[in-house]
Amino acid sequence: MYLKSIEVHGFKSFANKIVFDFHNGITGIVGPNGSGKSNVADAVRWVLGEQRVKQLRSSSMQDVIFSGTENRKPLGYAYVAITLDNSDHQLPIDYEEVTIARRVYRSGESEYLLNGTSCRLKDVNELFYDTGIGKEGYSIIGQGQIERILSGKPEERRELFDEAAGIVKYKRRKATAQKKLESERQNLVRIKDILSELE
Ligand code: ATP
Repeated sequence: MYLKSIEVHGFKSFANKIVFDFHNGITGIVGPNGSGKSNVADAVRWVLGEQRVKQLRSSSMQDVIFSGTENRKPLGYAYVAITLDNSDHQLPIDYEEVTIARRVYRSGESEYLLNGTSCRLKDVNELFYDTGIGKEGYSIIGQGQIERILSGKPEERRELFDEAAGIVKYKRRKATAQKKLESERQNLVRIKDILSELE
């Protein structure tokens, strides 16, 4: 699996629609300070479901929408799509190519798309569990992140190893099952109460 392309339109400094095509191997993005290099990494984080505005170096979610310049009006929405080559089927989906897209409007309305079909953030998260690609994954190492990992709490570091070991999806499923079990336990208690009232 590898990143084939990133399409951005109206996201941060990218007012025009622009497509970055990548090939298997190493690609470097170079440019003067403030030209938008980090915005490319932010776009990938954002499309993968990043909800924490701080991680996107913004102060609100609407901040990711192109806010205009002296010569250009602000835009009404931000759109990012990434396409991954999935010919090795590392992603558990029957497609050779997977495109994840996210759009947000100034009104706050937003949507995720998986190969052109509307989906939930949960679907995007689950698709990338244990691949290292999700928003919590280690495939995007931001500035200062190595230092944060090294000086972080052991539990935080453990999350990184869990992801690399491929056990995150089982942990999440276990947590969901435990939640269900707890709610069933509560239901049982309630039923017992009703029964004892009826007796
Ligand atoms: P450096 O090399 O200094 O780290 P960089 O090339 O990584 O810089 P970025 O931080 O990606 O640059 O881009 C910063 C630019 O993006 C700034 O000029 C900022 O004004 C612009 N920018 C950020 N958000 C928006 C937005 N919502 N609308 C318009 N421009 C934006």
